[in-house]
Amino acid sequence: MASKLKFRLKTGDRVEVITGKERGKRGKILAVFPDTGKVTVEGVARVKRAVKPSQKTPQGGIVEKEMAIDASNVMPVCPSCGEPSRVGARVDDEGKKIRVCRNCSEDMDTV
Ligand SMILES: [Zn+2]
Repeated sequence: MASKLKFRLKTGDRVEVITGKERGKRGKILAVFPDTGKVTVEGVARVKRAVKPSQKTPQGGIVEKEMAIDASNVMPVCPSCGEPSRVGARVDDEGKKIRVCRNCSEDMDTV
């Protein structure tokens, strides 16, 4: 399960929120947490936090931060067709697993 999530969603992927009040929002994945099945997405589920003064933030104050959301609430956006899509897999010549868009059948991994 954990490794499956790691394959489906990777840090830096563009994703679309497919459920909840922020449905339709798109952003880049900031972090994937396979243990909890959650991800943080740039600009999604932002919360303001009061921060006590510390060495890093001597003034303290308000910091905006993305909360982790359930990975099942987002879908990767295919770089080829621009649609949020289910992820398939194929194996390339070197035996590496590559993610494939189930919409347009193009590779989703550009590297
Ligand atoms: Zn596609």
